[in-house]
Amino acid sequence: AAVTSADEARVRRDDRAHVFHSWSAQAQIDPLPIASAQGSHFTDYEGRRYLDFSSQLVNVNIGYQHPKLVAAIQEQAGRLTTIGPPFANDARSEAARLIAELAPGDLNRVFFTNGGAEATENAIRMARLHTGRQKVLAAYRSYHGATAGSITLTGDPRRWPSEPGVPGVVHYWGPYLYRSAFHATTEQEETERALQHLRDLLMVEGAHTIAAIILESVVGTNGILVPPPGYLEGVRAICDEHGIVMIADEVMSGFARCGEWFAIDHWGVTPDLICFAKGVNSGYVPLGGVVISERIAQTFDDRPYPGGLTYSGHPLACASAVASIEIFKDEGIIEHARSLGAEVIGPGLRELADRHPSVGEVRGLGVFWAVELVRDKGTREPLVPYNASGADAKPMNDFAAACKQRGLWPFTHFNRTHVVPPCTTTADEVREGLAILDEALEVADGFTTG
Ligand code: PLP
Repeated sequence: AAVTSADEARVRRDDRAHVFHSWSAQAQIDPLPIASAQGSHFTDYEGRRYLDFSSQLVNVNIGYQHPKLVAAIQEQAGRLTTIGPPFANDARSEAARLIAELAPGDLNRVFFTNGGAEATENAIRMARLHTGRQKVLAAYRSYHGATAGSITLTGDPRRWPSEPGVPGVVHYWGPYLYRSAFHATTEQEETERALQHLRDLLMVEGAHTIAAIILESVVGTNGILVPPPGYLEGVRAICDEHGIVMIADEVMSGFARCGEWFAIDHWGVTPDLICFAKGVNSGYVPLGGVVISERIAQTFDDRPYPGGLTYSGHPLACASAVASIEIFKDEGIIEHARSLGAEVIGPGLRELADRHPSVGEVRGLGVFWAVELVRDKGTREPLVPYNASGADAKPMNDFAAACKQRGLWPFTHFNRTHVVPPCTTTADEVREGLAILDEALEVADGFTTG
């Protein structure tokens, strides 16, 4: 049935009266009611169509309403909608086998969760019990989720209101050459100094007290920070030397986003635990999990793992993961993501960087790109301050509004806009989106001082 403005009014009214939204001052928001979505676009009740350069929260990797994925969920719903974690179930077994086959090395077991935060939370618990140590090193400029442990791991301002958080988390600086914490001027220096910083931290914290080092293989929301050559290999070596569990948080970077099944495959590094969610089934049904190495799994061979969730391995979610992985393979989506990055997004963004005074740097891979906006290319002063809000955030808010007016839904965070459409977006759709970015960047250019 056609949607009407009366439908829209009711959605809006009930939302404003009864829905309590994430991360928001409830009286200051006005969420846009969405009527439908297809492919790389969603449509509001006025019939305005938006090209989604954000993939919602960077999770709709396969695009909206993929018919085979919808059919798989319908088929599973008709057969068996729910069965608890103590039983074995065909959808769950198959999803676990497929994910284990995709994961590097001997990461062969999957603990299923409902999303990313529960994945990082359980990965930390496994690492602590496996090593008998308590402390965890987590990066600044990171996001690992919003539950008690995962928000403590998080290295961005979303952690601040929850502090002091859970005990035993120590933060470190990861590599980020454009704003190097180590005054490095080359990738090689950045790698060497970032690794030395970790070694120094282990010295003063006591390496034997550290259970795990957790990192996003490619940092997502906090900047699409692609690690320079040698960094992840170096972290792996440090972990091996000191018996520390290496946890790769691939919640945002996995499942085609970086043009690989897991982003860490780029560097051929095998972590001990991988956290996944989002792209595994594009969020059609909530799902996440931890892929576990044989060695860590064996810790719990004769000792119960003290953790669980009513919906761990939910059949609807697992059936959608199975179908999604099959679609990725059948339609060559990993390869498509890789070539979109190499042939369309990367070159397109570099061209924008050349022409716009507000673009300080573009970086990324696959369908995972950041455009870093600055006041002045020479000083690299960010277009808005770190964690800007209110009037300080005006340049970014104006930029985002200019995108939306032109039918592009952008992802913005602090002084960056990320180019993270579904991994199934066509090259032509990406070019349309880049053309809109080109126009909207003129708004950002207006705030430059260089
Ligand atoms: N880890 C990373 C790297 C993420 O990007 C996110 C979400 O954005 C999470 C964990 C948390 O996932 P969720 O929101 O599903 O709990």
